[in-house]
Amino acid sequence: MVQLQKPKWIYFDGKIRPWEEGVLHISSEAVYRGLSVFEGLKGYWQKDGVNFGIVAVPRHFARLQRSARLLHIPCPVSYDGFEKACHELVRSLYEPARDMWIRATLYVIEGHWGEGTVADLVLTAYHQDKKPPAPIDIGVSTWQRASDVTLPPRIKTAANYQVARLARIEGRGRGYSEMILLNQWGRVAEATGACVLMVRNGKVVSTPPSEGRLESITVEIVADICRSLEIEYVERPIDRTELYVADEVCLAGTLAELVPVHRIDDFFLPKESPILTAVANRFWRAVRGEDYHPAVDLSMVTPAAGYAGASPHR
Ligand code: PMP
Repeated sequence: MVQLQKPKWIYFDGKIRPWEEGVLHISSEAVYRGLSVFEGLKGYWQKDGVNFGIVAVPRHFARLQRSARLLHIPCPVSYDGFEKACHELVRSLYEPARDMWIRATLYVIEGHWGEGTVADLVLTAYHQDKKPPAPIDIGVSTWQRASDVTLPPRIKTAANYQVARLARIEGRGRGYSEMILLNQWGRVAEATGACVLMVRNGKVVSTPPSEGRLESITVEIVADICRSLEIEYVERPIDRTELYVADEVCLAGTLAELVPVHRIDDFFLPKESPILTAVANRFWRAVRGEDYHPAVDLSMVTPAAGYAGASPHR
């Protein structure tokens, strides 16, 4: 059984509060219709062991605003308020030995069918191991990614993860921890919580968002890192069978990070993945503040209030 973390503090209704206070009314649209938009952000301890850097906060906030706008949800918070709330929560929870993943959600707490819509910003944050992810085996799901006219993949909304959940359940039955969803044309869309990158003929290839993938910040970072390493990066549709014969495959996402894929369905990929390993190594050095890269902007949380256990400002 999975043991989910229950961190001591959350950010809810404008301030840091105990975990138990994070409660929504059953009649809210967030509960009735699963109406919420969200982001997942990652924070890494910097090599100095003092500063903690959250990756690409402005881009995550911009995507949260885009998701909210497309679902007619007014965003209740400014950029400054958002960044400050992330810092406060991280500062009240972080531990020197672990990085963190922060989930920022706008839950619709008032309104009815798009009238009188009010959302609240809720932040939860979870500890993460510091080590890079080990290679994984994945499968291609029989479930399909929704299209732009059914449930736009561009919108990072809870409802978009219903199919992802079905695919994960299907995958578990087949021994896979992640699954790839194909789009309405039978081509690769993305994995359930990450995008797919493939290497063929020395080029790093990703599908464009119009193939049904999220507008991923990690993929943007990878594209910039490729340019700086003089590796060609292209966006074009990817067939399912191309993945089976690819030279290298990895999944890319804030939480997944850059995780190498060892096997897809019955097809084993080559053991060595020199190009994606070079990209991933550059990524790790940038997020840890070991070697600055302009694609990786870090919002620094300084340890003003001390480490784990510090009382949040209430
Ligand atoms: N696709 C899906 C469905 C996701 O949930 C995520 C994670 N946010 C991604 C792709 C990767 O996006 P990002 O790199 O911005 O985290």
